[in-house]
Amino acid sequence: MLTAIQVDTHTHTVLSGHAWSTLQENAAAARERDLFGLCLTEHGPRMPGGGTDIIPAAQNMLPKTVNGIRVYKGTEANIVDFNGLLDIGSKFLSRTEFAIASLHDICMQPGDAVQNTGALLAAINTDRIDMLGHLDDPKVPCELDTLVTETNRLGKLVEINNNSLAVRRNSEPNVVTLAKLCMRLQAPVCVSSDAHFATMVGAVDNALALLNRLGFPEELVINRNFDIFDAYINRKAPPGKYSVRIESASVSDIAAKISARGGA
Ligand SMILES: [Zn+2]
Ligand SMILES: [Zn+2]
Repeated sequence: MLTAIQVDTHTHTVLSGHAWSTLQENAAAARERDLFGLCLTEHGPRMPGGGTDIIPAAQNMLPKTVNGIRVYKGTEANIVDFNGLLDIGSKFLSRTEFAIASLHDICMQPGDAVQNTGALLAAINTDRIDMLGHLDDPKVPCELDTLVTETNRLGKLVEINNNSLAVRRNSEPNVVTLAKLCMRLQAPVCVSSDAHFATMVGAVDNALALLNRLGFPEELVINRNFDIFDAYINRKAPPGKYSVRIESASVSDIAAKISARGGA
């Protein structure tokens, strides 16, 4: 039974335009919760009040660790059309260590499930995008089976978003469907807070309770352990190429593959 994560893979600071804490505050909260790392995933520019597209590059001015917490440079890029176009171009996306692509109804009018799925499929096929954000959103209907299959095929990650259970109305049945699909397909996930305030950082109790209720195998949760998550980051090749794919067969193979190429 999984009771905590060691890396929060989805957090926002004041730079996102509608979040209330600074990076220092988020890092302090992460430390208090015994986390080892957090991903700094500011919203892209299409989100009202969101950051500019140069933020992923500007993050290079930040130290690797803040208050003892490893800070992974990243973004939550917005999908802005049905072709999966993102509001952060490859020039800046390539500077991230961890990048999420999300379709928010505030940033574009969602279509039907076929259109949304097409947009999300294109986004996950974008170089440097590691994970699709909150696929459970009832305002953005999509074909979860297709998306989990493709994400897994690419060696990328599915998000189990704790915040959905609190703020995205009626998302729970979709979170359950998503989790069951990941179990069936042996697709690796990250459980994240989607924190918009420091007290939310690392707080994923609702998501973990749901997963535990389903008997979700903890080996599939990549960010349960700092070393495993860090190895995922380190295995990423230069833009355009993933040197090691997380095959669908067995997540326990991941560690072996990573150590075989000398990762963390
Ligand atoms: Zn989002
Ligand atoms: Zn977010």
